[in-house]
Amino acid sequence: MHAMVIQHLPGKLMDGEILRRAIERIDELGRISDMPGELRRTFLSKANLAAGACVMKWMGGLGMEVAHDAGGTVRGILPGNGHTSRAIIIGSHLDTVIDAGKYDGALGIICALAALELLRKEGCKLDYPVHLLGFSDEEGVRFQSAYLGSAGVAGLLGPDLLAVRDEAGKTLAEVLLTEGWKAGAEVFSYDEFSSSGYLELHIEQGRVLEEAGEAIAIVSGIRGQARLRVTVEGLADHAGTTPMNLRRDALTGAAECVLMAEGLARESSALVATAGTFKVRPGASNVIPQLAEFTLDVRHMEDGFLNDSLERMRRNFTAICERRGLRLGWNPVQINHAVNCDERMIAELLDCAESVTGKRRLLGSGAGHDGVMMSKVMPVGMIFVRCRAGLSHHPDEHVEADDIGKGIEVMAEFLKRRNA
Ligand SMILES: [Zn+2]
Repeated sequence: MHAMVIQHLPGKLMDGEILRRAIERIDELGRISDMPGELRRTFLSKANLAAGACVMKWMGGLGMEVAHDAGGTVRGILPGNGHTSRAIIIGSHLDTVIDAGKYDGALGIICALAALELLRKEGCKLDYPVHLLGFSDEEGVRFQSAYLGSAGVAGLLGPDLLAVRDEAGKTLAEVLLTEGWKAGAEVFSYDEFSSSGYLELHIEQGRVLEEAGEAIAIVSGIRGQARLRVTVEGLADHAGTTPMNLRRDALTGAAECVLMAEGLARESSALVATAGTFKVRPGASNVIPQLAEFTLDVRHMEDGFLNDSLERMRRNFTAICERRGLRLGWNPVQINHAVNCDERMIAELLDCAESVTGKRRLLGSGAGHDGVMMSKVMPVGMIFVRCRAGLSHHPDEHVEADDIGKGIEVMAEFLKRRNA
């Protein structure tokens, strides 16, 4: 059975009902998948839309006014008591990576629902509206371009993003027209005037909290991230008759580039570089590869350092390819600058975390989050919840029930203190 062993119930969730429901919902969403035997929900997939519909049902159950947009992002609005119309936006993502864990994304949406339930139970009516968003794409699995859901609501789906292509060669613009969740779709749009801030709760996806023996951290900022598609083109030839010194092998050249990127990242403590996908053409065991294509994901906390590193990689890749008689294609798909969380939200969230856990821990995020897009139109703040062994993007991803309870309480406390 799942984590129904709730040993130390946090004070405000004493009867456990809200926490139990939250955990059941995490399990329920974790069963909605496009792939039998593993968890997988990608942009506009059947399971992703089903998960959105499920969340809309729960939001409706809380008396929220629910809607979705054509891109599969869902929203529930809980009106305030009318003192202010500026909303607090809470969100996280509904989509997953391939063979995912069930907490990444889902936890943030479900904890927000639970926090609103807790406030209702306490008889606390908020002065301001709360908009809860479940974004349809954060991981970027389908288009190799992340945050499509939050980019949509922040008004940032420009021509560049609409032109990105999925594996089948379809552009995002085409997909929205042909596969979009069009019936009853609304357009969600946010700016700094309509909203006072964006709040997201997410699993840490790292080991800092576990090593410190703490449940909650408040996020200081999000690391900058570049995603690129790199192609190396050589010449296909006979694997038996072509001497080694005459080959223009695209794959060995690409492999040298990837190792070079790894070496550069290893030299610096805070730079990380990953080649997560690799394609080889023509892809036959007896043919020297003509074309190798790989994705490159490079991240650092400082934009300047990230840009310098990318430039060094590009120069070195060029040199490797020239030496081997290959042609390099360097195609940035998406570059997201490092994001600082809002000072005021950080201070308030640290106070709330302290009131619930007795600790004030501030932590930078190595992983990207929807706050990257939302930060372009409003202040952002984030709560991290400890996850077992820091493991994420893996089916064994796990969060203890007590820690989920603390996350719910910190969020509820924040919303309550925002009342005038
Ligand atoms: Zn996530």
